[in-house]
Formats: sequence, structure tokens, C-alpha cells
Amino acid sequence: MIQPGATIGILGGGQLGRMIAQAAQRLGYQAHIYAEEADEPACQVTAFKTLGSFDDEAKLKEFAQAVDVITLEWENVPVKTAEFLAQYKPVYPDANALKITQHRVAEKSFAVANRVIAPAFAQAKTLDELRNGVMKIGIPCVVKTCRMGYDGKGQSIIRDLKEIDAAWNNLQTDDAIIESFVPFEREISVIVARRADGMMQAFPPVENRHKNGILDETQVPAMLSTLLEEQAMKAAKLLAEKLGIIGLLAVEFFVVDTQVVINEMAPRPHNSGHWTMDFCATSQFEQLIRAICGLPLGSTAITSPCIMKNLIGDDANDWKKYLTEPNAHLHLYGKSESRPGRKMGHVNKKA
Ligand code: AMP
Repeated sequence: MIQPGATIGILGGGQLGRMIAQAAQRLGYQAHIYAEEADEPACQVTAFKTLGSFDDEAKLKEFAQAVDVITLEWENVPVKTAEFLAQYKPVYPDANALKITQHRVAEKSFAVANRVIAPAFAQAKTLDELRNGVMKIGIPCVVKTCRMGYDGKGQSIIRDLKEIDAAWNNLQTDDAIIESFVPFEREISVIVARRADGMMQAFPPVENRHKNGILDETQVPAMLSTLLEEQAMKAAKLLAEKLGIIGLLAVEFFVVDTQVVINEMAPRPHNSGHWTMDFCATSQFEQLIRAICGLPLGSTAITSPCIMKNLIGDDANDWKKYLTEPNAHLHLYGKSESRPGRKMGHVNKKA
């Protein structure tokens, strides 16, 4: 067990790192951030930081020597970085979990190998392979870059065979996935916490609504049949176990009729779990600290139905209005510059 007073190392300086650091501090841990710039959201909340790139081994070693355990707020931390750090201190989740969740084909193959339903998919490394893949999967289909896509970036829908060339040019990649288009009724996610001894605790499924490919609102709880709820929680727990996650695994699903179909997973806190900061017995950030430190996992009971709304770009200019709403909790990330599509904060409101 890693006890309060110890130092949690966090790879990445974004808002997730900031909220992990704050949860760690609340439990009496020190938080030490590894980031590129001193003004990133996470760096603002702790005195302990190492500034460097993910390939700067001297800086990484300095960071590892200053902390007791390492976690991450970004699933695209290079696998090599996680392997390098693991020579010095435990890295949770580990390099293997990163390897699988960083690549959409590896991720979906892993899900299918564990009998979790995924959309039909194929890989394309060239335009010819894309053409063949689209013929195999059928239209409509969605093509995405295998790596680094987020918030709907790096993807297009193909509804007509004539769109294949344009989609390929658009992606600017030599490694893409083609997925069948899932005619989903809703999108949900489940976040699971897992400790080194295998103990797990899942947060209840929530419903996610996107605008322009970015999460706009999360509704808690998701309105699902018990059967679907159980399917989603079971699949998420199975994947966390098979990936050997120590920490958190967030899994996004499409709901189609009586089935849940996996979309993607991330081995870290997730935007759709931000509601837990105000309307759950334990926040996802605290649960992460509990999981990596081997503490008892907290209750995931919902204290009130609620809505989490992301404040994206100029939405954050309205921050004052939330302060006058009695059941709204405002969270701003301390980003100095607002840009379209940039997550500036969120509001949790009682539903
Ligand atoms: P992703 O980056 O994979 O999470 O995709 C972003 C959003 O695009 C998802 O939340 C869905 O709304 C939509 N989307 C992604 N993949 C598919 C698919 N195979 N079928 C239908 N919609 C999809």
C-alpha cells in the first residue's frame, strides 16, 4: 500500500492531470507533474513538476526518482516512455495497456478476442487497402486514423464509394481503420477502477451526447434496461481485467437494440466521469488514487441524478451564470487562451 504522504507522479499536464493532482492532495499525497510547459492546467496546482518531453530520458529519470508511483492523464504517452520509467517506479496503467489502447485496430482486436462485440472493422495502410476494406465492410462506414484521433478528429464517414479518395487524403495517415457505421440509439460509457490485487469497482453507465465530435453533455444515470446496464459493466470489467489495468479504464459503447457495441477505451480518467466530482460518493480521480495506491476502493453510488456539461471554447465566458444556480458546480481548468473546440471547464448540475 502506498500511504498518504507519498508522491504520485502524473504524466501529462492537462485538465485530467490537474484533477488527479487535486484528488491526490485531498488524500494527503503530494502530486508531481511531468509536462512540457509550466503553465499547463496541472502544473498550476502543485509545486512539484518536471518540465520535459516524453523522450527526454534524463528528465524522465529525474521525475521517476522524485515520485513513489506513476500514473498518466493521456493514453498516448509513448510506450517507450512507460517502459523506461518502469525501470525506476511502478507505472499504472502499464506499457502493455497503453500499447493496446493507443491503436484502434489493436484495441478492437483485443475486444473481439475477449468476446466483446465491436463494429466490423478492417485495417488500411494504403489507398488500395482502403478501397478493398470499404468494399468488405460496406457503406456507410467510418474511417479513422489508428493512432492519435480524439474528439472526432482524424475521421470521416464514407456514404458513397466516390468519397473514398477524399477520405484518404483527409486522414493524412498511412494507418487507418475502417469500421461499419453503427446505427446507435445512444452512446454510453463505463469507468472501471482496478487494483493490483484484482479488486474492481465500476461506476454506473452514463449517457454521452456529442456536438461536432466533442462530448457536450453526460447524463447520469444512463436510461438503460438492467440487461444493457449489466452487459456494459460486465464487458468493461472483463476488459480491465484482461488488460491488467491498475488504475482506471473508461470504455465507450454504442447501444443498438439489446446489445452494447464497443467504440473505444482509455486507460485513464474520462471526460464522461467528471460528474463523479459532485454527484457520486467517490470521484473518478480519487478512485484512481485509491486504485494505484492499493487503498480500499470507494463507493460508486450516485448521490443525485445529474448532467455534466462541458464548457467548450467561448461557452466558458458564461461561467458567472452557473454561480447563481443553486445546484450547479462549476469547474474551470485555468487555461489562459480559449480556442474553438478547446475544453475550458465543465459544470455538474443536479437533474
Ligand atoms: P471516436 O473518436 O472513435 O470516439 O468517435 C467519435 C464519435 O464519432 C463517436 O462518439 C460517435 O458519435 C461517432 N462514431 C465513431 N465511430 C462510429 C461508428 N463506427 N459508427 C457510428 N458512429 C461512430
